[in-house]
Amino acid sequence: MAEETILESTERTSGSEALRKNVQAAIALAGAVRSTLGPKGLDKLLVDDQGQTLVTNDGVTVLESAKVEHPVAKMIINASSTQDRVARDGTTSTVVICAEMLRNAWQLVRQGVHPATIARGFAQAEKFALESLKELSIDADRSQIQSAIETSLTGKLDKAMEKHLAKLSLDAGEIILTDGRADPTRVKIIKQNGGSMLDTELITGLALAKSRIHSEMKERGGPGSILILDGGIERKQPQFEAKLNITSTGMLDAFRKSESKSILSQIDNLVEIGCELLACKEGIDDEARQALLDNGILTYRRVEKKDLDLLSRACGANLVPDASRATKQDLGAFIKTREELRGGINHWILDAEDTGATLIARGSTDGVLEEVDRCFADGLGVACQLLEEPTLLPGAGATQVALARRLRRHAESVPGREQMAIEAWADALESIPRALAANAGYDGIDSLLKLTAAHNDQGDFIGLDLDDGEAKDTISRGILEPLKITKQAISGATEAAISILRIDDVLWAQMDAQIPAEVEERLQGFGAE
Ligand code: ADP
Ligand code: MG
Repeated sequence: MAEETILESTERTSGSEALRKNVQAAIALAGAVRSTLGPKGLDKLLVDDQGQTLVTNDGVTVLESAKVEHPVAKMIINASSTQDRVARDGTTSTVVICAEMLRNAWQLVRQGVHPATIARGFAQAEKFALESLKELSIDADRSQIQSAIETSLTGKLDKAMEKHLAKLSLDAGEIILTDGRADPTRVKIIKQNGGSMLDTELITGLALAKSRIHSEMKERGGPGSILILDGGIERKQPQFEAKLNITSTGMLDAFRKSESKSILSQIDNLVEIGCELLACKEGIDDEARQALLDNGILTYRRVEKKDLDLLSRACGANLVPDASRATKQDLGAFIKTREELRGGINHWILDAEDTGATLIARGSTDGVLEEVDRCFADGLGVACQLLEEPTLLPGAGATQVALARRLRRHAESVPGREQMAIEAWADALESIPRALAANAGYDGIDSLLKLTAAHNDQGDFIGLDLDDGEAKDTISRGILEPLKITKQAISGATEAAISILRIDDVLWAQMDAQIPAEVEERLQGFGAE
C-alpha cells in the first residue's frame, strides 16, 4: 500500500539501495504485527508446518513463528525477543517503533542526510528520552501494580480472566519476594484439564498432584527432615535365564530373601539418619512400603525429575541415588506437609524455606491451558519486575506523546542535522498512539493531534480511551506500564535501528538482501501492508 509505493518509487541516486531494502523489510515486518497492538488489537491465526494452529495477539509469537530469513528482519525479531526476555512485554511496540524509526530515517536519507548523522541523532534522542522518563514516572502502590499487570495482560484473554490472572501473578510475586528480589522460577505451574479458566488457583508452597503411598501414613506434619531419592526402593527382577541358573525352588527363595534383606537394610538406613519424609523418582516395593509405614516415614513415589529438582532446591536437600548410602548431610528440611483436594485431584503440598508457590491452571482444553500458562508467566514476569522496582509510566500512548513533545523542544537546541534526526525519532515514538487508535477504529492522525493538544492543556498523563477515542487521564483509569518495559522498548528499538543504519552498503550488496518471495508471502499472510 502507500508505504510500499513511497519506497518503491525512490530513486536509487537519493540514497543507498541496501538501506532502502532494509527499511522495506522492517516495514513489512511491523506491518505483520501492528494490527495486534493494544487492547483492540486483532488476534492472528498462526498455522505451522504441521498444520497446528495457534491464535495469538502477541507480536513476538507471530514473528518467531514466521520463520523469517531476512537478516534485517531477524535483527528486529531479535530485539523483540530480547524485549520479551528482559521485560516480558512490549514486544510489538519494539518492532513498530523500530520500523517507524527506519522509515523516518529513510526520508532523511532521501533529503541528503547521511545515515551516520541520523544514527548519532537517534542515539542522542534515546539518551534524552531515557532521562526524561524520570519526570513521567510514578511510584506505584499495590493496587497500581495490579493495574499495571492487568494493562500488560490486556487483550490476551477475556477481561475477567485478565483480572484474575493479574491478581494471582501479584500474589505469587509477593510470596516469592525475598530481600527485594523475586525469581519467577520459584513459581511452579501445574496444568489441570477440566473446569473453567477462572478456577485457576494459587497455592503457597510446592504442590504436586500426588498421594502418599499408603493411606495409613500420616498426611500432615512438620517441621521435619526430607530425603530426596533419585531412584526407588525396589526389588531387582531375577533374570531367570540369563543371570541365575535356577535349579531348585530353594535357590529362588534364597534370591528373594537376599533382596528382601537389602530392601529392609535401606529402610534401616533411612531410620538411622532420621528421615521423616521421603520423595523418590521410582517405585517402592510392597515390603518397603510396609516398613516405611511402620517406621513413620511419609513417602511419595514416582515424582518427576523436575519436581525432585524443585524439592531439592526448596528444602536444601541433596539428590541421592541410593537409599542405603544416604547420610544425614543429604537430608533437607521442610516446614509443613499436607494433602488437599484441588479440582477433585489430590495434591501433596509442601512448605519449606524456599518452596515458593504453585499455580494450578485450569481450563477445558489443552489449548486453553497453554494460553493460561503463557499469560500467567507474562503476568508473573511483570509482577516480579514491579515488586523489585515499583515504578510506573502512563500507558495508552501518554508516555510516547509526552516524550515526543519534550524531544521536539530539545531538538531546537541541537545544532546541525542531528536536529532533524531527533525530530524523526520523536515522530517514530508517536507511531504507538497512532496504531492504538487505528486498531480501535479511530483515525490515527486525528487521535494523535487530540492527544498532543490535551497534553498541552492538561499535562503528561493523558492517554487515549479506546472505547470512545477521547483523551483522558491514565492514572485514574489505571492504565499504567512498568518503567522497565518502556525503557527496554525504546533502547531495543533504537539499537536495532542504529545497527541497521550502520550496515555497510558494500558488505550488504554481497549478501543480496532481497526479501525472499516465500517470506514476503508469509508476511503478507500475516496481514502485512
Ligand atoms: P506489546 O507487545 O507492545 O506489549 P500490546 O498489544 O500488549 O503490545 O499493547 C501494548 C500497548 O497497549 C501499550 O502501549 C499500552 O499502553 C496500550 N494499552 C493497554 N491497555 C490499554 C487500554 N486499556 N487503553 C489504551 N491503551 C492500552
Ligand atoms: Mg503487551
